[in-house]
Amino acid sequence: MKVLRTVKEIRENLNNLRKEDKVISFVPTMGYLHEGHLSLIKYAKKNSDVCVVSIFVNPTQFGPNEDFNRYPRDEKRDLSLLESESCDFVFIPSSEEMYGNDYQTFVKVKKYSEILEGEFRPTHFEGVTTVVLKLFNIIQPNFAVFGQKDAQQAFIIKKMVNDLNIPVRIDVLPIVREVDGLAMSSRNVYLNEEERRQALALYKSIILAENLYKKGERNPIKIIQKVKELLSEYPLLKIDYVEIVDMETFDKANNMIDQKKYYLLLAVRAGNTRLIDNTILRV
Ligand code: AMP
Repeated sequence: MKVLRTVKEIRENLNNLRKEDKVISFVPTMGYLHEGHLSLIKYAKKNSDVCVVSIFVNPTQFGPNEDFNRYPRDEKRDLSLLESESCDFVFIPSSEEMYGNDYQTFVKVKKYSEILEGEFRPTHFEGVTTVVLKLFNIIQPNFAVFGQKDAQQAFIIKKMVNDLNIPVRIDVLPIVREVDGLAMSSRNVYLNEEERRQALALYKSIILAENLYKKGERNPIKIIQKVKELLSEYPLLKIDYVEIVDMETFDKANNMIDQKKYYLLLAVRAGNTRLIDNTILRV
């Protein structure tokens, strides 16, 4: 496994492999890796000749009052996990390498960056799409792998790839959960014991919504209301939003039909920690 920190080095290494027609996969991460990340890396590895993982806590996707400085980092542990997954290349650029030298250019997927997560994190997705486009241009992978955990992010990246004709395939893999159901996230380390206990309400909400849907409930307002009722029983949790959107368009669902699939999307704050989770509602 090669660890590279500059654009020049990773380009030189990958150029030769590309000339040999090797299939290059790419998994962008912010590090502090967990089983969720590793599921993407295993998939990438299995379906390509060369697997590239990036670790970069991207400053431009954090708002001024967000957790950029305290975002958990452990490069040594990450590298040993990647080594055991037989990852081929790890790209770990500095902020200077990515944004030094009078950085000016941003890319924004307009409408979809302003709804849902975007309402609470107004500059977030612009930072995400900018760094992902830069990483795509640096790595030039055949395909890149993202998690359904960040469903809106995956949707926006697919949109960017389509709108800008970027020659990369985007694969989205299911959410990996702790044994009790909490979606794995690097941010879960922020939770104290009681917050961690109450955070389980997100998973309970998902199960509740799935059961209502299975039993034939097709009114999104009713499902959202039941989920909000459940969450409100947990005093440490503050709801940012609970929404049901059409999976294909990210439009809020008015009435739900069996021919379509929907995301139930949750964003909740437990103390200072923002948690997101989702599930697909389908027949
Ligand atoms: P992050 O390091 O949080 O930026 O995440 C890097 C990638 O891992 C993103 O595509 C995430 O959607 C994905 N990811 C994060 N948590 C999970 C999870 N619990 N299950 C599956 N994928 C995940």
